[in-house]
Amino acid sequence: MKKFNETLYDSVSQEFRIDKMYFESKTDHQHLMIFHNAMLGRVMTLDGVVQTTEADEFIYHEMMAHVPILAHGKVKRVLIIGGGDGGMLREVLKHDIEHVTQVEIDKAVVDMAIEYLPNHSAGAYDDPRLNLVISDGMDFVRDTSEKFDVIISDSTDPIGPGEVLFTDSFYQLAKKCLNENGIMATQNGVPFFQKDEIQTTFKRMGSQFKDMSFYVAPIPTYYGGFMTFAWGTDDECARKLGVDILEERFKAADFKTKYYNPAIHHASFALPQYVVDALDEVK
Ligand code: SAM
Repeated sequence: MKKFNETLYDSVSQEFRIDKMYFESKTDHQHLMIFHNAMLGRVMTLDGVVQTTEADEFIYHEMMAHVPILAHGKVKRVLIIGGGDGGMLREVLKHDIEHVTQVEIDKAVVDMAIEYLPNHSAGAYDDPRLNLVISDGMDFVRDTSEKFDVIISDSTDPIGPGEVLFTDSFYQLAKKCLNENGIMATQNGVPFFQKDEIQTTFKRMGSQFKDMSFYVAPIPTYYGGFMTFAWGTDDECARKLGVDILEERFKAADFKTKYYNPAIHHASFALPQYVVDALDEVK
């Protein structure tokens, strides 16, 4: 029986049974696998790290897309960095927005996800509102003069090609691409095991925004409890909106979700004390 072992940290790993292998190859940037697991559905890994599974992707994608977009309230233009599996694009396009640019470094991830993980993008790559750019997200934010209302960094972890997306320069250049009171949200690891990641992001991204914080959601295959999403904006009210306003906006948006709802949105900014303490250490 074939198994995939994800060695997360020196002394901890998790294992998935491979019931059917759909794709395994080295792309120009990373080692990509897409396989089937009886309990999780199709699973995508990059460089030995689980990126997304059909069973629990909705939690991650709904929370990263709908929290900043509904908190902003008037989003017309969204920038997604990474997100090659297409799940983020699918959720972002549920909103009545004019335009999405997605900047993904690895064309093979997009192509193979469309072929072997089709429920993630669910046709989103054919949407006329999309401009798909195959490039390093860092180069894009440095060179573009375009502006966006929300930027979502749906990146790999800060090793390999994703490393640049966690640097001071990236946050500084991304901020320049935001319209006034725009919001930036980034995936920021599992703080139970990756305390240094929230501390580093808090300092680096926090130096760019008047309001810097995190929100949380538990995604079962990102082992270790809550995942944190970094939140940066100059609009100090956006994070504190009441459930009533969020209810109004969500109702007007008029689509169904499986994890996101306005009460979860509001509550997700309440941080567990071990996260608060970790941030206090670097304040
Ligand atoms: N949800 C996932 C997670 O947190 O594990 C992330 C999924 S998505 C597949 C991550 C994507 O980021 C990958 O497709 C990868 O190719 C892309 N990526 C990594 N570094 C990048 C960079 N510098 N610029 C643009 N995309 C990048």
